[in-house]
Amino acid sequence: MLVVMKQDATQDDVRAVAEAIEDLGYKAQPMPGGHRTTVGLIGNDGRVEEGVLANLEGVLRIIHVSQPYKLVSREWRGESTEIALSNGVTIGGGDLVVMAGPCSVESRSQILESAHAVAGSGGAVLRGGAFKPRTSPYSFQGLGVEGLEYLAEAREATGLAIVTEAVDTDGVKLVAEYADIIQIGARNMQNYSLLREAGRSNKPVLLKRGMSATVKELLLAAEYILVEGQSRVMLCERGVRNFDNHARNLFDLTAIVTINELSHLPVVADPSHGTGATRKVPPMARAAVAAGADALIVEVHPDPAKAASDGQQSLTPRQFEELMGEIRPIAAALGKGVATPDRVPQGALSAP
Ligand code: PEP
Ligand code: MN
Repeated sequence: MLVVMKQDATQDDVRAVAEAIEDLGYKAQPMPGGHRTTVGLIGNDGRVEEGVLANLEGVLRIIHVSQPYKLVSREWRGESTEIALSNGVTIGGGDLVVMAGPCSVESRSQILESAHAVAGSGGAVLRGGAFKPRTSPYSFQGLGVEGLEYLAEAREATGLAIVTEAVDTDGVKLVAEYADIIQIGARNMQNYSLLREAGRSNKPVLLKRGMSATVKELLLAAEYILVEGQSRVMLCERGVRNFDNHARNLFDLTAIVTINELSHLPVVADPSHGTGATRKVPPMARAAVAAGADALIVEVHPDPAKAASDGQQSLTPRQFEELMGEIRPIAAALGKGVATPDRVPQGALSAP
């Protein structure tokens, strides 16, 4: 429920509404706006009767949020959320943001080479897993802290922001020390203690859709993060399991449109995990931009055949450069540019 205050409502009126909400056993969240304050009611699992609230001094009207998720919904917040990164790039700010890099950080030279390629082709964010949630315990599990150190070095060298995954609650603080964006992977979308911990951190979160999760489940998972206080969350479509096996996953383009309708949070599209095959990545990346994704996240590896993970769906730097050339006019047709970091250090356009 949202209690919309009149333009001339006083601080005391807002306080009285918040107290009344708390007396009913819920949490109140005042949200000052340009013209008027709105007080949100959180913690209900069903319709709350307006009762006493509608008659309090300064109350203009009451809006019932019809969805089970609240803070993430467009009903709660009409304006799209913009997530500003320290390199001057904003996700959800109108321009398309491209995140790219290898599935895993494998070595210092591999991530630096990848970072220079991504920056040189106009990407804004470097991806790369230091902690890898692998289906098999015998597969490469990531370099851990060493990988985070290399990512930080790559950021210094190129001006790219860093997105990397935290796989457990202990990892959130560690990843937050190094990364600009904390990724929560598909396998952890419903790991509620991890979601809450990420919500308590001070870094934006990229939440990936679970392998068999509905859009509603994704939005409710994001709600766990927002309820803890972190509102800079982006939702990532990365394909879901389905009855057909023509591709690794079914890349759900409609979800991009649906999430945009239902939520104010930016949408990131991952055509790499969404398709599982290098040749299918560019067409689906182009389609995702056309469908209105705010950002792309694409796997790029200097030598995909030797990749420790997901080489079969990684682009070479050359293929990535071509893709960047293809998506620019698609973004432009939607009135969007492609965001570039405002700090591109010397040498970022050539290999180390
Ligand atoms: C990844 O980004 O490399 C990854 C493991 O993705 P997902 O969680 O979507 O499988
Ligand atoms: Mn991967």
